[in-house]
Order: sequence, then C-alpha cells, then structure tokens
Amino acid sequence: MQIIEIYKSLQGESSYTGLPCVFVRLAGCNLRCTWCDSEYTFKGGQPMTLDEIEREVRRLSPDGGLAEITGGEPLLQEREAVPLMEHLLIAGYTVLLETSGERPLERVPPRVVKIVDVKCPDSGEGDTFRIENLNALTVRDEVKFVIASRRDYEFASDFIREHALSSRVASLILSPAFRKDAAGSRDASHCLVDPQQLAEWMLADKLKARLGLQVHKFIWEPSLKGV
Ligand code: SF4
Repeated sequence: MQIIEIYKSLQGESSYTGLPCVFVRLAGCNLRCTWCDSEYTFKGGQPMTLDEIEREVRRLSPDGGLAEITGGEPLLQEREAVPLMEHLLIAGYTVLLETSGERPLERVPPRVVKIVDVKCPDSGEGDTFRIENLNALTVRDEVKFVIASRRDYEFASDFIREHALSSRVASLILSPAFRKDAAGSRDASHCLVDPQQLAEWMLADKLKARLGLQVHKFIWEPSLKGV
C-alpha cells in the first residue's frame, strides 16, 4: 500500500473527537475539494506491507483503542485497505474509516465505523456521493458535511431530510470548512462559515445533527501536519 504517514494524535472530528487515535493516512485522492487541507496526500507516499502497517499501529498503540484509516481517499486502495481493516479489527482496535462516499462502501467490513464526508456544492465536488452507498450505512456509521456557505448548509439539511439520515446512522455532523491556507492563530477566524452562524441556522431549523469543529486545528497550529 502507498502510505503517507502513520501517527498517533487525538481524534479531531466525528463523535470520537478528543480520544487518542492512530491515523493511517493512505496516498491518493480522486477528488479536488476547494478547501482540501490534505493536498500533500495526492502524490507520493512510501510502499508498506500490511504487516509493516499493523506493526507500526501496534507500536504506537499497543493496548488497542482507535485506529483510523484515512487519506486522501483510502478506498482507492480498497484491495489492500479492506484486509488491513479486517486485521486491525481482529487485533482488537475500533476501526474508523474516513471516506468521501464516492467509492463503493459495500465491501467495507461491517464492524468498521464509516465516517462519510458527503461533499457539498462549494467543495467543487458536489454530486460525487454514490447514492447506492446509502444502503451500506449502518447505525454505527456517521455522515459529515463540511459547510462553506449557506448554500452548503441548505444542501446538507435537504440531504439529511430527503434520505431520512437521522434514523440510518449514529451521528450527523455539520462542520464549518477551514481555510486551506489557515496558519498562525488557533481560532474560528479561519472558518469559512462562522460556527455561531452555523449553530443559529441549525437551531432555527431544529436540525437533528451535531455541530462539529475540527478540534485539532484549535489545539495545534492549523497548518501543522501529522497531528
Ligand atoms: S476528498 Fe479529502 S483528501 Fe480528497 S480532495 Fe477532498 S478533502 Fe482533500
């Protein structure tokens, strides 16, 4: 597999926010989101075998816990990523998979928690979610929308209602997009939508979803990688 980095940090997104987690970041992505903060994953990486990856995960977190497979788009390497997830589950890890939902999800092991980032229009990659993937979602999964504008918010709230997502998944998350060139201060001034504004929209609409902040960007300097 082509691997960009393996590191331990705190989970910055999803309902697992704040918990220690080992991140396995795979190389390559077939999308080009306007606000992408992971462009360094598009090329390169180093080849690693499944055993080497598993050994590194065990070294960083010998007592189990959370392991997230992320990217890039990890399912571009599905042939190896699925066995990796199976191995980590057998080894006792709670496995999270961060994916855009553009690739088929049906071969992802059912015990893996899928965190599906459905792209909104201002990402420049709207309409890339594979609608058949709704059938692969389970009550342990989470769906996330990164919001850069009122238009994105309306897309997300319509999508949630139209597909009755509240009853399909464990958690629905709306998260303000962060400027991709954010650097320096660790505060909400880098958000493309003010979190307060997003909170007010959600409350006004009685939206059954949680507001998510990428907490790693408030803990560490926002341009820092590997945290
Ligand atoms: S799917 Fe993720 S890694 Fe790919 S361009 Fe979008 S934000 Fe970046």
